[in-house]
Amino acid sequence: MRQSKTLIPTLKETPADADATSHKWLLRAGYIRQNFSGVYSFLPLGKKVLDKIEAIIREEMDAIGANEMLMPALQSADLWKETERWDAMGDELIRLKDRHNRDFVLGPTHEEIATSLIRDEVKSYKQLPLTIYQIQTKYRDERRPRFGLLRGREFIMKDAYSFHATDESLDERYQQMYQAYTRIFNRLGLNFRSVIADAGAMGGKDTHEFMALAEIGEDTIAYSSESDYAANIEMAEVLDTYQFSTEEQKELAKVDTPNQKTMQEVADFLEHDLDQGMKSLLFKADDQYVLVVTRGDHEVNEIKLKHHLHANDVELVDEDKTFELMNVGFGSIGPIGVAEDIKVICDYAVKSMANATCGANEEGVHYINVNPTRDLHDTEYADLRFVSEGDPSPDGKGVIKFAKGIEIGQVFKLGRFYAEKLAANYLNQQGKAETLTMGCYGIGVSRTLAAIVEQYHDDRGITWPVHLAPYQVHLLVLNNKPEQRELAEEIYQQLTDAGFDVLFDDRNERAGVKFADSDLIGIPYRITVGKKASEGIVEFKVRQTNEQDECHQGELVDYLN
Ligand code: ATP
Ligand code: MG
Ligand code: MG
Ligand code: MG
Repeated sequence: MRQSKTLIPTLKETPADADATSHKWLLRAGYIRQNFSGVYSFLPLGKKVLDKIEAIIREEMDAIGANEMLMPALQSADLWKETERWDAMGDELIRLKDRHNRDFVLGPTHEEIATSLIRDEVKSYKQLPLTIYQIQTKYRDERRPRFGLLRGREFIMKDAYSFHATDESLDERYQQMYQAYTRIFNRLGLNFRSVIADAGAMGGKDTHEFMALAEIGEDTIAYSSESDYAANIEMAEVLDTYQFSTEEQKELAKVDTPNQKTMQEVADFLEHDLDQGMKSLLFKADDQYVLVVTRGDHEVNEIKLKHHLHANDVELVDEDKTFELMNVGFGSIGPIGVAEDIKVICDYAVKSMANATCGANEEGVHYINVNPTRDLHDTEYADLRFVSEGDPSPDGKGVIKFAKGIEIGQVFKLGRFYAEKLAANYLNQQGKAETLTMGCYGIGVSRTLAAIVEQYHDDRGITWPVHLAPYQVHLLVLNNKPEQRELAEEIYQQLTDAGFDVLFDDRNERAGVKFADSDLIGIPYRITVGKKASEGIVEFKVRQTNEQDECHQGELVDYLN
């Protein structure tokens, strides 16, 4: 490709809104442009890299027998109401109406569509297991779209859904997916860790996240210095004591009826628009569930919580469950209902200014305590186990260390949550209808692109791994002297014929501009046609290492191979 004929709008200065390293370099090197907050265009260079990442993902998905398809981004709200995610997703779900006033959503993910498709099209155990996947644009009205491609409101995801007759079959698929993800992220050259994650509102039990290690990462990973143990920090803290399963949830759901009015009041109170991140931590101690929502600086809060969880918060549980919401504003207490609401409460609470504490006994969640101003007291809550840096690792091997990670993928055993809600059944060998069990598996494709740049850059621009770079060779011609132009044209032809993907900087720009742009863009091999063109000699440079050499035109193909 001739640079004069493509669109690579490089920038000399860093745009003021570039809030992450990858964001800065992708903008400056002309890979992406923002349309509005959280929504981007991929320019030709960005699209080429995206395609290479997607090709690797496709190869690994196809290799384990997943079937690619494409589902709609525009979805009827009906299915979302059936699974109750119409409410559960809250403000993150982008909703719209058509001319007949019917409700629609722009898909943030595709469990509803995938499950209803399989419900309608798969009837027998003979057709199972079955795995489908797609690479598609997703929409989420993120509270804080930021860091460029890392947290967008429109982004590209690979999402896969597997359907099974038995739990064993799901376990097997989960392992295969986990291995495929490991291969994908290795092939993408990422420094990553897979961590034990929190199944949360998805209703699943077993789940792992894949985290690209990077300082900009919004997740904290606790990992062992000497073993494979790694968990996201929330899970590391609750892992030993808290296990969430749909069965457990169902049991809990039988107990008590939620006081909807009270819950709504709490929700309304918490419904402030807060421009700071909140984090919720769920603990189980002494047969009680404790949800703590922190605001402001998570690191400071986590440390505070570790040492100052207020025991009285737990004692606030009113055993006869009859109390009403009190004193909204400075500490409010009210019955909240079932364990499934924990996530709903979290979601409300994360938007609030408040510290919210929600407790429960074995039967369910019974109170939430909201306090926007109070400092946590000094009393330690005895049975809570916390993980901090330098404690022993839970598996007994080595000590815990913390690292920041970007969630680039997640694998989930969803179980029967969606299949039950959507009545997705199959006929077993005896001809009896049974509920399907499911897994779902996501990779943030556009986020992964940015994560790669977080790990592959220097102070001059991007330093792509060879197989992911938009072009393999960047050919520069320094001025318009006929011998330089002619040699450059010959090399362009020669390398293109030999199968190399070459970007040829044929623009009428100063040498300094061409070198700076070339460093920004980050193509692995640079060939510069300059002073020694009449002798057929060019300069050869490796972007990642800065190694530099002269070589003759005739040696170039060998050199590159
Ligand atoms: P996060 O915790 O960062 O909000 P998530 O857990 O909500 O992500 P999933 O529902 O697991 O995301 O979606 C699968 C993958 O999609 C994630 O692992 C991540 O790589 C990617 N992803 C999620 N949200 C975004 C976003 N706003 N922008 C870009 N990629 C995203
Ligand atoms: Mg999210
Ligand atoms: Mg997540
Ligand atoms: Mg996730």
